[in-house]
Amino acid sequence: MTEKLYDNDSYQTEFDAVVLFCEASGDGYKTILDKTVFFPEEGGQSCDTGHINGIEITFVELCGDTIVHYSKAPFEPGSTVHGVIDFAPRYRKMQNHTGEHIICGIAHKLYGCENVGFHLGADYVTMDLDKPLTSEDIAKIEVMANEAVYSNIPVTAYYPAEDELKITDYRSKSNITGKVRLVNIEGYDICACCAPHVARTGEVGIIKILDCINYKGGVRLSILCGRDALSDYNERLKRNIYISNLLSVKQEDVCTALDKLMEDMASLRQQIGEKSKLISKLYTDSISETDENICIITEGLSSGEMRHIVNGIMTKTTKSAAVFCGNDQDGYSYIIGSLHINLKDAAPQINSALCGRGGGTSQMIQGSVKTNKKQIEVYFTN
Ligand SMILES: [Zn+2]
Repeated sequence: MTEKLYDNDSYQTEFDAVVLFCEASGDGYKTILDKTVFFPEEGGQSCDTGHINGIEITFVELCGDTIVHYSKAPFEPGSTVHGVIDFAPRYRKMQNHTGEHIICGIAHKLYGCENVGFHLGADYVTMDLDKPLTSEDIAKIEVMANEAVYSNIPVTAYYPAEDELKITDYRSKSNITGKVRLVNIEGYDICACCAPHVARTGEVGIIKILDCINYKGGVRLSILCGRDALSDYNERLKRNIYISNLLSVKQEDVCTALDKLMEDMASLRQQIGEKSKLISKLYTDSISETDENICIITEGLSSGEMRHIVNGIMTKTTKSAAVFCGNDQDGYSYIIGSLHINLKDAAPQINSALCGRGGGTSQMIQGSVKTNKKQIEVYFTN
C-alpha cells in the first residue's frame, strides 16, 4: 500500500520516499514508493505530472491500493528519492474538481440529480447528470455555485469512522469498497472522493457552465473553473475584439451587426440569382434557333450562372448547347445541355476529345477539361 500524501495536503508538491520496487515495463520502468504526492489517473481525472530525482514521470496509475509511477529510467530499490509534481496543472485540476463538487451538490439538492460521469482532461471538464435539466435550471445552479465561491467555505476531506459513515448522507458515484474518504463543502455537498481539492471554495475563482447537452436521458455539462475559466474568457474576448474590429462596431454590438450582415448577404444572393437569370435571358435572346451545336466560351461565371445559360440556350438547338468557363492556362469547367441528344452516352467521347472528366444526366452533363479555346471551338463546330 502506498501512503497517499495528497490525502492530507493537496498543496504538498515535494516529497522524499523510499523505492520499494522497480522493474522494466514496456519501453520504460515502473516504480512503487512507500509514499507519494503523485495523484494517479483515477475517477475520470488524469494523473499528476512531474519528476522523481530529475527523471520525468510519464504516467501514474492506481493498482489496488498501490500507486505505480512510470518513467524512462529506473530507480534503485531501497534508495531514497526526491519527487516534485508540476503544481500548475495539479492546481487547475483542484479548482475544476472542487467546482464539479459544488455543481453536483447543488444539482443533487435542487433536482435530485446523481453524478454518473466525470472527465477532467487537459483542456476540458465534463460531468454527466442522470436527469434532464432546463436552461433555467442550469442558470440557477450556476448562480448558486458562484455564491458558494463568494462564501469561501472550507473544503474538508476526512475518513469517517464506520458508525459516522452509516448516518452520513453523502453522494457517491459507485459502491466503494474499503475506507471511504468524504469531501465536505458545508451546506453544499458531501461526497465520497479520493482526489485533491482546494482548501476553500474561494480558490475555485469562478464556476462557469459552458454547455449542456442531452446525454443518456440526463445531461452532460461542460464547465470551466478558476484559471481555466479566465483563459477561456480571454480567448472569447479575443474573438469578440477580432469580430468587432472586422465589422467596425463596438464589442457589445457585434450580434446586431452580424444579423445585419447575414441579411445583406441573403439580399445579395437574391440579387445575384436575379442577375444570373437576366444574363441567361440575354444570351438566349441573342441566339437564333439552329440545327448546329451552340458553344459559348467565357470567363468569370459561377456554375449556377452557367446552368441558367445552358437551360436557356439548349431550347434553341436540335444538337447540344455548351458553356465553357475558364482560360487556356487553368483549363475550363463546362456544362452541356441538350433536348435531343443523350449526353450521358455522349459524355465519354466529349471528355476523351477534350482531355476532360465529368458526367451527369441524359439532358445535362458537367465537368472540366484541360484543353484550349481553339480545340473546344473546333470540336463544337464539327
Ligand atoms: Zn473530488
